[in-house]
Amino acid sequence: MDLDRLIQDRIRDIPDYPKPGVVFKDITPLLADHVAFAGVVDTIVNHHGRGTVDKIVGIEARGFILAAPVAYHFGAGFVPVRKKGKLPAATIEENYDLEYGTETIQMHTDAFAPGERVLIVDDVLATGGTAAAAAELVRRGGGQVAGISVLIELSFLHGRAKLGNLDVHSLVTV
Ligand code: AMP
Repeated sequence: MDLDRLIQDRIRDIPDYPKPGVVFKDITPLLADHVAFAGVVDTIVNHHGRGTVDKIVGIEARGFILAAPVAYHFGAGFVPVRKKGKLPAATIEENYDLEYGTETIQMHTDAFAPGERVLIVDDVLATGGTAAAAAELVRRGGGQVAGISVLIELSFLHGRAKLGNLDVHSLVTV
C-alpha cells in the first residue's frame, strides 16, 4: 500500500462521538502503526523543509502527539498551546466560538523570542476556530506564523476561510 493510502486507511471514523451528528476522526490506529506515524511526521517536515522554522506549536491534546516528533525532526523547539488553566507560568489567552458555547486556549507569554518562525500542528482542522486562535496567540507572543499543518482537513466546514492567507497544509482532505 502506498503511504497516502496507508495513512487514510489508519484513520478510523467513529460516528456520533462525542455527540450525535459528529463523525470523530480517530487517529489512534495511525499512531499505533509506526510506518504510518513516521510517514505523517516526515511528510510534514518535508513539506516545509528542515531549518525553515524555529518553533513548533502543538495544540492540546492530539496536536501534542504529532507536533513533538515533528519538532524533533525539524531541529526546532516545541511549544504547547493548552486549554485554560493547564499551563503553570504567565499566559496569554484567546477565546473562540464552538457550536455551543466558547473555548479558551492559552500559551506562555515567554514562549518565543521576537520574530521566531512558528509552525502550528494539530490533528484535525474543522471549523478553523482553534487554529485561528492559536495563530493569534503566536502573533501576540511575538512569533511569525510560518504555516499550519494538520493531518486531516474537514473541507466541508471551510476552516481555511478563517485562516486568511496563511499556508495551510493538510495530508488528508475529507
Ligand atoms: P475546529 O476549531 O472546529 O477547527 O476544531 C478543531 C479541533 O477540534 C482540533 O483540535 C481537533 O482535535 C478537534 N476536532 C474537531 N472536529 C473533530 C473531528 N471530527 N474528529 C476529531 N477531532 C476533531
